[in-house]
Amino acid sequence: MINLILLGLPGAGKGTASERIVDKYHLTHISTGDMFREAMANKTKVGLEAKSYIDKGNLVPDKVTAKLVEERLGQPDIKNGYILDGFPRTTVQAELLEGITKRLNKPLTNVISLEVNEKTLIKRLSARFMCKNCGATYNKISKMPKVKNTCDRCGGHEFYQREDDKPEVVKNRLKVNEKMNTPLKDFYQKKGLLTVINGEQTPEKVFEDIDTVLSNNQ
Ligand code: AMP
Repeated sequence: MINLILLGLPGAGKGTASERIVDKYHLTHISTGDMFREAMANKTKVGLEAKSYIDKGNLVPDKVTAKLVEERLGQPDIKNGYILDGFPRTTVQAELLEGITKRLNKPLTNVISLEVNEKTLIKRLSARFMCKNCGATYNKISKMPKVKNTCDRCGGHEFYQREDDKPEVVKNRLKVNEKMNTPLKDFYQKKGLLTVINGEQTPEKVFEDIDTVLSNNQ
């Protein structure tokens, strides 16, 4: 069983790596960012509460986020294991997650941190765009849709740039996330769960490195 956290600053390649991991290991991908975007689009209570934080590039309060994750991890489709992408982002969340995984009896097996320097992150985030229909992520430099103006995943034709990928917000997001990242890595290093991977490599090589770690687990 693999129950994995992917750590990494926004733009480090967690989404792309997750897709490849899901293809091979059939884990359930849980992205708190995606869940918040969906909640905002549906104007649910959580979505409305989260919007004011997200639009400024700040973090949604830990308790709100942890509750969302606990509900999701408790669902029955998570039988082959999970990938947490974008959660935890603070040590408080990491501690809350310990409680959640204990209550649900779904212990973590690996924490992988994708490391990319800040210049590359800013470049990647400003080039990123999304399918309006299904949320698939593309990149003007490295990952255009295979057919022009058509989403590879759902065939949709409308795309947009995330509000929080705009340059004014990106700097704050990186600052907020960077401050939390080192203590979070230390937390998992101490538990013997952490592997660091160079996220500057091609997506293929990044996946190869992740695969080496995960295949040792089976
Ligand atoms: P992401 O798509 O992971 O970059 O998340 C987009 C935004 O959603 C973040 O900038 C936060 O405002 C919010 N968010 C996502 N995950 C978390 C989390 N674990 N804790 C707090 N806020 C989060």
